[in-house]
Amino acid sequence: MAESSAGLQRLAPFVLGRARRGVVGSSRYAQRLRTEVLEAARDPQRQPVLISGEPGLEKDNLAALVHYGSADRRRLLVRMEASDLQGSGLNLLDELGSSTLLMSGMDRVDDAVQQRLIAMARGEAPGFQGRVLFTSEAAIPALDGQVRTIRVPPLRVRRTDLGDWLRYRLRLQSPGLGWGQPPALPDSVVRRLQNHDFANNLRELEAMVDRALRQARQQSQGELPPLLPEEVFWTEEKKRRARFDIWRWKPQLRDWMRAPALWNTLLFGLVSWLFVAVNLALWLGPQDRAANPMLTLFWAWWWPLILLSYPLVGRLWCAICPFMVWGQIAQKLTPWHKKSWPHGDTDRWGAPLLAAGFAAILLWEEVWNLENTAWLSSCLLLLITAGAVIGSTVFEKRFWCRYLCPVGGMNGLFAKLSILELRAEAGTCSGSCSSYACFKGGPADGEGLASEGCPLGTHPAHLSDNRNCVLCMTCTQACPNRSVQLRLRPPAADLQRTMQAPDGERGLILVLAGGICLHHWQRLLGWLPLAPSSLHEGPLLARLSFAALALALPAAAGLWLNRRWLYAGLPLLWALLLARHLPIGMAEAGTVLPQGWPHWSADTHVIGFCQTMVVGIGWVGAAILSRRLLDLDRRAWVTGSMVLLMVSLSGRWLVAL
Ligand code: SF4
Ligand code: SF4
Ligand code: SF4
Repeated sequence: MAESSAGLQRLAPFVLGRARRGVVGSSRYAQRLRTEVLEAARDPQRQPVLISGEPGLEKDNLAALVHYGSADRRRLLVRMEASDLQGSGLNLLDELGSSTLLMSGMDRVDDAVQQRLIAMARGEAPGFQGRVLFTSEAAIPALDGQVRTIRVPPLRVRRTDLGDWLRYRLRLQSPGLGWGQPPALPDSVVRRLQNHDFANNLRELEAMVDRALRQARQQSQGELPPLLPEEVFWTEEKKRRARFDIWRWKPQLRDWMRAPALWNTLLFGLVSWLFVAVNLALWLGPQDRAANPMLTLFWAWWWPLILLSYPLVGRLWCAICPFMVWGQIAQKLTPWHKKSWPHGDTDRWGAPLLAAGFAAILLWEEVWNLENTAWLSSCLLLLITAGAVIGSTVFEKRFWCRYLCPVGGMNGLFAKLSILELRAEAGTCSGSCSSYACFKGGPADGEGLASEGCPLGTHPAHLSDNRNCVLCMTCTQACPNRSVQLRLRPPAADLQRTMQAPDGERGLILVLAGGICLHHWQRLLGWLPLAPSSLHEGPLLARLSFAALALALPAAAGLWLNRRWLYAGLPLLWALLLARHLPIGMAEAGTVLPQGWPHWSADTHVIGFCQTMVVGIGWVGAAILSRRLLDLDRRAWVTGSMVLLMVSLSGRWLVAL
């Protein structure tokens, strides 16, 4: 009996003295778990308990919480596992008396011992009056109906608890590594890790925090940082299927694409001055599109081409964008110290502001007829440039591009559809790198060139989608380990069920859809009484009201939709935007040369056919994505695809010539 001193001595190595921690987190899963543990502890029947869940979820600790929260707390809690009950170890069960037995890993115990343990749990074992708690990683049919079950949700299901868990682990682990106060944790790290699956749950989290603290200490060279840098948190890279590394195939291309001379000549020698020339032509030249080729360049070339570029090269426009070239020039020329890169959740207010900015631009374009007013089109370009210049003279890097630029927001959104991605290999970075020059910048190091680090404040190994990569090649230039890869991949590979996108991005999707309704407002709202005959002439209030109403139409329906439906519809939105811009592009792009030079213009039937093809492609893409993003059975998917088809047909009708 455990009450005998010999029995106590034999059980001593197995005694669990206390619970190490409570249930961390405030998600509904954590709250339910807390309630279930409490109910099991207070169970007047002292029913046996089975705590089941994946490896690494600290199930033994939960069992200890049950025991030490119960009326049996003054009795011993004896923890055993399958290996302890082999051979003569089985006799230990006779020593338990009124102690509580925690049988850890019941699913690994052989059948005969399982039967004996179940008899003990039922109170049918002579000499044992204690309670039995089981933990298991798999279902145990023999325990069905015999026990109270607590299912522990894996960490990937309780993503909202991750911040609490990380901060808790930092509080626990940082003193042992020299911190007087636990270091702070950037919100961006929590958001990034919420995208990680944590196959080994809390065990993996603990190892990750330990590694981050050690690396931050190693990097600090003296004073330990009060805020942990983002780059010290490493996760195992998810197995990416169907990727083709272009630079491994053609190494010469990599050398060519990372050459600073190429970028400097292109951006500062050509693009910057071309932009000045375009704006001068818009201000000083004829004001209507028929007579001003620069206006044709903007409306008939830029819009269709940038839309066509998204599925192929994602956000590449941002690598050669003239707005930011002037932002960078202003940043270099202003002598004052720029504010450091913000670590908070800037997207929380940045993304809605960006969507609102895009909505304002669309209203401006349509009501003030920018398509046919050259100087106002130039004002639009200069306004975005002003944002880039102000952002670059206040903050370091490219704050405007990452958080506020409306064009950049659209580019980042549609870049998720791209077949191209730039990523670093997490294994190489975590194993071979100590400089993190791609992210932080630094002096030249071996093959790595001197740089100021990623202008968008992202680490190429931590990118979970294309949204925050402008393909500027800075990381490729800076990396001394050839870790950065340029890969081909299936279209829309960023759009997965586990993706994390800022809430405000939903607003941008609806605004872009609203832009199509706004351009063709007459088909939707022209029949209403009080509708103006045109958005360009007449009382301003009526024109603005109808324009705003048309712009808001998709939002009225879309705000109630599941967010995943909006992302599933992204290929369709892209297709409808392209179909909306094809008429100008195909009819006028070939007329940009002066009179007397060759001109080309597509027939209206050809334009209509291309619009139908594009919308058809968009519908197919949306139907496929809805299967991937939404948990639909076959019937629901077919119904959803039919609804998408109706939206596609309506869209096709709307953008018709
Ligand atoms: S985000 Fe805007 S300003 Fe920045 S590079 Fe892209 S388009 Fe240009
Ligand atoms: S510099 Fe290269 S190896 Fe080092 S972290 Fe960046 S991409 Fe990885
Ligand atoms: S530095 Fe690399 S990760 Fe950062 S934006 Fe440029 S290409 Fe993308």
